[in-house]
Amino acid sequence: MFNFSQVSDSCIKCGKCVPNCTIHQVNPEETTSPRGFIELLGDYQKGELDLDKEAKDIFESCFLCTNCVEVCPNSLPTDMVIEEIRADIAKKFGIAWYKRLFFWLLRNRKAMDFFNKLGYTFHSCALKREPLGRGLIFRLPLKRRVIPFFNSKSFLNSYPERLNQGAKPQVAIFIGCLANYNYTTIGDSLVEILKELDYEIFIPKKQLCCGAPAYFTGDFDTVEFLAKKNIQYFETFIDQVEAIIIPEATCSAMIKHDWEVFFKNRGMKEWEERAKRVNSKIFMATQWLYNHTKLPKILEEKKKQLPLTITYHDACHAKKVQGIYKEPRELLAKNFKLVEMEDSNRCCGFGGVTIQTEKFHLAKLAGKPKAQMIKNTQANIVSAECSACRVQISNSLYEAGVEVEFKNPIELIAQALKS
Ligand code: SF4
Ligand code: SF4
Repeated sequence: MFNFSQVSDSCIKCGKCVPNCTIHQVNPEETTSPRGFIELLGDYQKGELDLDKEAKDIFESCFLCTNCVEVCPNSLPTDMVIEEIRADIAKKFGIAWYKRLFFWLLRNRKAMDFFNKLGYTFHSCALKREPLGRGLIFRLPLKRRVIPFFNSKSFLNSYPERLNQGAKPQVAIFIGCLANYNYTTIGDSLVEILKELDYEIFIPKKQLCCGAPAYFTGDFDTVEFLAKKNIQYFETFIDQVEAIIIPEATCSAMIKHDWEVFFKNRGMKEWEERAKRVNSKIFMATQWLYNHTKLPKILEEKKKQLPLTITYHDACHAKKVQGIYKEPRELLAKNFKLVEMEDSNRCCGFGGVTIQTEKFHLAKLAGKPKAQMIKNTQANIVSAECSACRVQISNSLYEAGVEVEFKNPIELIAQALKS
């Protein structure tokens, strides 16, 4: 068993985390707060708490947003211990069949490609494009929910392995599953930007899911499988590329931060070291583009303001986990008007596979204030470098009747370059 006492003994019960907690904001009970979770985990370690259905329900209601970690004077990793207890829950109760199917597809790229094709071929029977193009909605009037697009071809299947060959230096793209299958324009835009910057582009075809959806659900076998496969693959080209860039906050945080923690927690020293070595070349796309390329200068020289007002949402896995918030804003501000929403750091309420399925009522509640904040800015577009936020925010805006589109900053930067 993971040593939960280490964390529970370090909690000084100051309560600083409580008002900032996403689940506590929508379900204000002590048990659904970081302090409450930690206390329950301490009881579990001492054998004073049964991992029964009620405990399962409580631990599965955390959004893993890391708001608590950010404000805790002892930086207690509440999100990480919740992830660990979910593995115990998964062992005891099993994982729902549809989640197992989903994780199996994430492990098997060819099967996922086939499933994606199937979805694309038949989606129009039940789904239609949402009027603002934020995703798909069910044709039945009662099912009001925006879900991501299906595409005829994934990003990885749309390009050769190498583009702009001969240009120096070389950079690799890790695309992430949502951008690979659903929001493919993100990858197209990243390719356009890298071509403009004259980089040789390597699109590693055997990349697999980073494992984040499985990690947040407690399916640690899948996490281990995916992390090891990806590390082995990255090692075959890591010395040839300047960077592996990722236009997705969650995937980037998972690879740069959580793989290492995952192996460390299991005492897998060799894999922890291998994850650490790979990490040094992993960057979130805007972070790398801003700090390591001439893109800021090129955008500056355009001296063109596009007639769009953008508000930027700080994805939890970008700002809180990786400290990235300045870079995308600096890049966007060169050609767009930026307005800040009341609390750009507030979690959008995506929460992971379980929250988006079994506990969707919590996602809806957490999403409402974010939609209102976006509306208040009167911006045309809300942007965040995270497709999980895109799924959640697009739906929250749709439900609130707010006519604002969502775009990844990479899409907007490519648009500015073309203008
Ligand atoms: S990760 Fe977010 S939802 Fe979970 S306990 Fe911390 S603040 Fe609350
Ligand atoms: S902020 Fe940290 S130390 Fe204070 S109650 Fe929350 S988890 Fe415990």
